[in-house]
Amino acid sequence: MKKAVVIGEILVEIMADRTDQSFLEAGSFQGPYPSGAPAIFIDQLAKMKVPSAILSGVGEDDFGTLCLNRLKEDGVDTSLVKRVREKATGVAFVRYNSDGSRNFIYHIDNAACGTTTRADLASLNYESIGTFHIMGSSIFNREMYEVHRQVLRDLPKECTISFDPNVRPEILQKDPLLSELMQEFFGRSALVFITEEELEFLTSADSLKESLEICFDKGIETVVLKRGEEGASLYTRDKEFHQPPLKVEAVDPTGAGDTFAGAFLGAWLKEWPLENCLKAANAAGASAVSKRGPMEGTISLDKIEEALRPGF
Ligand code: ATP
Ligand code: MG
Repeated sequence: MKKAVVIGEILVEIMADRTDQSFLEAGSFQGPYPSGAPAIFIDQLAKMKVPSAILSGVGEDDFGTLCLNRLKEDGVDTSLVKRVREKATGVAFVRYNSDGSRNFIYHIDNAACGTTTRADLASLNYESIGTFHIMGSSIFNREMYEVHRQVLRDLPKECTISFDPNVRPEILQKDPLLSELMQEFFGRSALVFITEEELEFLTSADSLKESLEICFDKGIETVVLKRGEEGASLYTRDKEFHQPPLKVEAVDPTGAGDTFAGAFLGAWLKEWPLENCLKAANAAGASAVSKRGPMEGTISLDKIEEALRPGF
């Protein structure tokens, strides 16, 4: 099988201990946890036993070593990750609110993962790539946009493009144009992992039905809808499948979507029936929310296969 590649932030997450804990006063935090949406996604994809690589940067510090060790352990090819002497590894602070919302403070653009430029693409062997995943949160500056554009231009035509807008208001607010630029990627993808909110935001439509029509008209073949604690759905022009959520104790929602997408893509590349791809993703998403730490809940292919057995 050809390789799947993603480009974007590798970082550690530091998590406020208490719900409603403020960032305006001293408090207890947990972490560092290996994180970064594209890193979580590729970690799960590697666990599906798909050859997987990430192009990024980490500092020459323990946070960088922690992340690289985890990715390598889980089978990710990290040869495209540069160690950056001048910058520290990226960090995200997160706090959860009792209304279910969360707030982030990101150190991405100003960190080692923010140093990726088009020059780094020289190390990519385009012919070896079968799938390229675009993670919306990784379009965190104009150069990252140019990086993704160049890859899309140079990839072999038969390469599959998948896209998760992973809209983070904290990142988009910095540069409203970035959200417009994301539209361009949206229209280039065969497979999209998205929430209903993001779908309406990107299509400017008022209903799910209308949004889906717009997607299919753009050439998107499969829309995989992430529905949080309500499970997940999948739509093509002529089919739809729905999965109720698996019953788990949800302790940390961050990273569920990335784990979900990695599992779906892995199953899809193995040519599992679409309904089973959705089941695999739903099981992976449930595993992700049941563990504290955004990458702690990625799940092995064996466990996913077990989850798909009747009677699970
Ligand atoms: P994030 O951006 O934090 O990575 P997301 O918003 O992109 O997450 P979610 O919809 O929260 O994605 O989660 C992805 C999938 O994980 C869901 O579609 C569902 O299959 C599973 N999932 C999420 N929350 C739960 C839960 N509480 N119980 C069971 N499964 C869940
Ligand atoms: Mg979520």
